[in-house]
Amino acid sequence: MGRRKVQVDSRVQKLSDASVLCRTLGHARDILPQGRARRAELAPQGQREQILRCSRCSWTQPLLIDSATGDVIGAGSGKYPDGYLLPRGSGRLPRSEARKELFARLGV
Ligand SMILES: [Zn+2]
Repeated sequence: MGRRKVQVDSRVQKLSDASVLCRTLGHARDILPQGRARRAELAPQGQREQILRCSRCSWTQPLLIDSATGDVIGAGSGKYPDGYLLPRGSGRLPRSEARKELFARLGV
């Protein structure tokens, strides 16, 4: 097979390095501690909140958990840092495009 020229979706060029990494590997998720007030608010309903945070790009997303079963019963919308998202309405970016951009930025 011959060597083909690599073309990368031009939308990735404006993304932050963290965004390109997370779009390639997935978010590096950690759990933020739940605030005391929020815990007290949810406890009577038998629920807890778990806030996921990416240690690389700082994306966050709250999850609502059933305390008894541990099941996720709801997910809030994710908050993305500047430089993460594509322009509104421009569609999804395939992971393969982020991967090619990652190789280009790393020079490998
Ligand atoms: Zn991330």
